[in-house]
Amino acid sequence: MGKNLGLYLHVPFCRSKCIYCDFYSLPQAEEQIDRYIEALCRHLEAAAARCEGYTVDTVYLGGGTPSYLGRERLETVLDAVHKFYHIAENAEVTLEANPDSTGDKKMIRALREAGVNRVSLGVQSADDRMLRLLGRPHSFAQAEGAVAGLRQGGIENISLDLIYGLPGQTMGHWQETLERTAALSPEHLSCYGLKVEEGTPLASMEAREAIPDGDAQADFYLWTVRRLEELGYGQYEISNFARPGRHSRHNMKYWTLGEYLGLGPGPTRTWGACASPGRGTWGPTAGAWRPGGSSRRPRRPSPGTSGVWST
Ligand code: SF4
Repeated sequence: MGKNLGLYLHVPFCRSKCIYCDFYSLPQAEEQIDRYIEALCRHLEAAAARCEGYTVDTVYLGGGTPSYLGRERLETVLDAVHKFYHIAENAEVTLEANPDSTGDKKMIRALREAGVNRVSLGVQSADDRMLRLLGRPHSFAQAEGAVAGLRQGGIENISLDLIYGLPGQTMGHWQETLERTAALSPEHLSCYGLKVEEGTPLASMEAREAIPDGDAQADFYLWTVRRLEELGYGQYEISNFARPGRHSRHNMKYWTLGEYLGLGPGPTRTWGACASPGRGTWGPTAGAWRPGGSSRRPRRPSPGTSGVWST
């Protein structure tokens, strides 16, 4: 058999923009989504010609907020993936999702049938006041409901994203968030320290002053590593923790320099003999993305770095 390949598909759309986010994602751009999906499918087809001999063993729909696309558009993308690529029978297929766009049980069942077997849900905090401050479009109760819905829909591998070091957050607040989130029994947890990115709304807000300093964040982090270990989550990377055998296979490709192909305006790629940045912006009028545009940094970190990713 040939070599394995990871496929990362960037979905640069969100319902709204979180105050800390500097990823390339467009809020309230509904009118552009169908054309983007068309372009993405065309790009999938064009790139497939160069993937002969490869078996795709991980697929990752990242964002942005892929779940915001809804069932039909996601099925279109997944159909294209299956049509143009050789997909391993045991492929890990991950969808990034937000709790406010994961409530449709029919959608979850349909996506499960279309091959999605892992969902990474952006929870970020168990404190609704904090979620509002961050501009998150959901409550913690919605996150709890989303996890229950994903389980009912047949998703057996769930990852939950959290952020620590939020404005005004104490160790006690963070501990409560982690405990309430771990009580949902996800297979995987990602815990990121908040980093203020210049140019984001957070960078110019008063709330910035209330962000715990580096020493406090280090205390949060060290407690997190210890506590998750006690709860049965092994740390396999700076910010990622998993039950045995439940680490993200796609994520590991980034850390082990495995081959992956990223399509869309945000991702990087290391594929074949070359690595290229692949950054750009989506140009709806041209129906294509423009390489080298204003996306400030790749969607995924390089080994040796840590950062806040979401959705
Ligand atoms: S953090 Fe996630 S949900 Fe929020 S704006 Fe950025 S990509 Fe969208």
